[in-house]
This record gives sequence, C-alpha cells and structure tokens, in this order.
Amino acid sequence: MDKDTRLKLAVQKSGRLTDPSLDILARCGLKLSRGKDQLMGFGENMPLDVLFVRDDDIPDLVQEDVCDLGLVGLNVIEEKRLALAARGVQANFDSLRKLDFGRCRLSIAMPEGTNYEDAGSLAGKRIATTYPHLLGQFLAHHGVEAQIVTLSGAVEIAPRLGRADAICDLVSTGSTLAANHLVEVETVLESHAVLIRTPIALAPVKNAWVERLLMRIDGVQQVKESKYIMLHAPRAALPEIRRLLPGSESPTIIPLEGHPDRVAIHAVCRENVFWETLEGLKAAGASALLVLPVEKMLA
Ligand code: ATP
Ligand code: ZN
Repeated sequence: MDKDTRLKLAVQKSGRLTDPSLDILARCGLKLSRGKDQLMGFGENMPLDVLFVRDDDIPDLVQEDVCDLGLVGLNVIEEKRLALAARGVQANFDSLRKLDFGRCRLSIAMPEGTNYEDAGSLAGKRIATTYPHLLGQFLAHHGVEAQIVTLSGAVEIAPRLGRADAICDLVSTGSTLAANHLVEVETVLESHAVLIRTPIALAPVKNAWVERLLMRIDGVQQVKESKYIMLHAPRAALPEIRRLLPGSESPTIIPLEGHPDRVAIHAVCRENVFWETLEGLKAAGASALLVLPVEKMLA
C-alpha cells in the first residue's frame, strides 16, 4: 500500500553529496526523522521517504524501481548509462533537474612535465580511472587508442606506482592533483548533482508530489542568489539605475511623498548584489540603499 502512496528518494549516505542533498530537501520544506538504523529517513510532513545508500547504487535503485527518485552526480549517471548500454540494456532513469551542488569535472591528468599537445598525445598510454566507460567514449570520440586501467579507487597515485601514465578522475579545486604532481590536460565531463526519476508512470498522488517537489526545488535554486533591493533615486536616473540592477525584470517604482523628482525602487535581483553594484547605484544618484535576502520565491 505504502509503495503506491509514498515517494522513495535515494540520497548518498555519507559523502560529498549528503549535506547539500539534505539541505535542499530541508529548504523544500521536508522534515525528516531518521530511524535508528540510519538507513531510512521518514518524511514527517510529506509522503516522501529517503533511503541512504552509496552514491554508486543510486542509479541501480532507480533503474530497478526500488526508488522513484535519486539525488546523484551526473558523472555516476552517465557512467552507468554507458555501462548499461554496453550490456545492451537501456537506462531506466530520467534527469529531472540539474542541481547547483556537487560541481566537479571528470578530467584527464598527467604527471607534471609530460609533453602534451592534444588528445592524440594519449595514444598508447595507460590511463587509470574508475570511469572506464566515460573515458572510453572520450577516447573513441577523439579516435585515440589507449589502454584503460580500471581501478576501484586511489586513482591519483597510480602514475607514481608505475601503474599508469595518466589518470582520468574527478577534480574540483585541483588540489589533490597538485599534491600528486599531476596537471589537468582534458575535461571529459562537467558534472553536478542531478535529480533523477524512474520513467515508470507513478500513481497520481505520487506524481503530484514529484511536481510539487520540482516546483519547490526551482524556487530554492532561484532564491539562492536572489536579493531584494530597495533604494531611492532621481526620476531622471531611472534608465541608468535599471541598467545597473543585476538580473531584475520589472522593478516596482513608488512615488515619494513631497519629492516629485525622486522615487523609491524595489526590485528582485536574480544575481548576487555586490558592493561594486551598490557603489555604482550610489554614483548614479541612488540613496537609502537596502539589500535583503529572499527567503522563498514562487513564480
Ligand atoms: P560512496 O561511499 O557513496 O561511494 P564516493 O567516495 O563515491 O562515496 P564522494 O567522494 O562523496 O563519493 O563523491 C560523491 C560525488 O560528489 C561524486 O560522484 C561527484 O558527483 C561529486 N563531487 C564533487 N566534487 C568532487 C570531487 N572533488 N571529487 C570527487 N567527487 C566530487
Ligand atoms: Zn561512490
């Protein structure tokens, strides 16, 4: 019975995606109570339960219809998609939303001082990775024949151990590469977290909650950078002020009692408002500037 009414969402149990995943769910209004085993989180105020698993298992859980939804890196999904295709199986998950966390890239890196011109320089090399399918696709696309050394972890030390001439691994800041005296030479995939769902039709109640969740996610992602800005300005400076307001559509313009040549302007800016912007607005004649965070937004 539950299976027909409560959504099941897979989230990484412990890793880089865990906190941001729980954070976005909380911002969407979900109150979770976690059971003793910590494997399941029960949604107290939404018919949505969270299953905590290893990130690599998330596509499978959605593929096998154990979970309706999953929060996972694009890198994991795309590797899985290719792995399934190699076995002649069609991937059974749809990407619903690109999320603004878990940003990283799958890159090829080589020891410092290696001569590198273009992908052709990888010909005949041994490349260590935990992403053999994505790497294979990249090499095939560039018509390069190289040896893929599939490892289950600690890829960055493979060159020093003499097991590989290059690596293909996830990079965010590049500090791990630098610590291992490796330099990035190619980007195979730009990645971020995504919300995936089973393409199997869900019961109408569940579908309605998926739609609601998506709307809330969109709201949450929009407000992150958004600010509400209020200021006073000379009427004559309106065009200049509007040009300076970052990412605002139609500001509200309010007359100021006793000041026919000045107005109050209220606007939602869909980008962060920096000091430089405020200084520019002030130089254009604005005064009484106030920038407020936006808590929720529903278009
Ligand atoms: P698990 O035990 O769940 O298998 P893991 O070691 O595979 O954990 P993490 O290192 O926590 O996973 O990374 C999870 C995801 O976070 C990656 O698949 C990727 O989408 C994203 N990510 C973001 N930045 C990085 C980074 N610098 N290195 C690795 N992954 C990153
Ligand atoms: Zn993993």
